[in-house]
Amino acid sequence: MTIPNLAIHMNRKVNEGIAIKKQKDILPLAAVLGEEKNQGFFADFLAREMDCQKEDVLSYELSLYPYEAGCQLGLNGELISSPRLDNLTSVVACLKGIISAREHAEGDGLSIIALFDNEEIGSRTKQGANSGILLQILERIYSASGYSREEMWQAVNGGFMLSVDVAHGLHPDYMEKADPTNRPVLNGGVVLKQAASQAYAGDAEAVAIIAGLCQQEAICYQQFVNNNDIPGGSTLGSMASALVPMRAMDIGVPILAMHSARETMGARDQEHLNNLLQAFFMA
Ligand SMILES: [Zn+2]
Repeated sequence: MTIPNLAIHMNRKVNEGIAIKKQKDILPLAAVLGEEKNQGFFADFLAREMDCQKEDVLSYELSLYPYEAGCQLGLNGELISSPRLDNLTSVVACLKGIISAREHAEGDGLSIIALFDNEEIGSRTKQGANSGILLQILERIYSASGYSREEMWQAVNGGFMLSVDVAHGLHPDYMEKADPTNRPVLNGGVVLKQAASQAYAGDAEAVAIIAGLCQQEAICYQQFVNNNDIPGGSTLGSMASALVPMRAMDIGVPILAMHSARETMGARDQEHLNNLLQAFFMA
């Protein structure tokens, strides 16, 4: 499908800034059909795809997402441009980290990664981070492994959670949007995100633990706070660490144009994030 823009000739004021109305301006074009074929063409398509009768399709969900592949760019290939860097970059690092640490781990604790649905719509769903799902799964793992509830709570209280999501990198065209002193740059390393409002999970103790780990493993890191007049987004870190009371820290790679159809990140930052997750699971 495609969402064709209105030609500039029919909207001469487009460069003065326009409000994009969801209902009017971003309806996708899916097909060009003869008039007689319009009725139920999508149900026909689904039935063909599923190799079943049209009447057997009782319900469906439809989401659109950019289809183009990512690419490397920059004079030295130092940038990555791709849809959904938010938040595939973190998923890759978490998966690689827990898999490679498993081969070297010596400790007897439980290492878990949780990849939640619905973060961008607030996490308030049965399978989202702002639900009981994480705690419920922890309880079931501990009880199935023969541990008591008390032992599980001790492990939770002694545990540490990383909330891994992208951060705003310093945009060269909009330097004034960043905090004057905490300005993460692309390829400058993993970002430790802090907010006095606790929109990001973390406190002085959590920062010290992750900064110490980065220093010990020679992993580049940088610190981020929002410009006080420009509140950024939030992450699931503060929700998840409240529902499963545990020390936690929000981290991630810095990117430009967050939530655009294509986002841009530094290629070396993926290495830094991968290294930190691996060190975290081995610590
Ligand atoms: Zn996001």
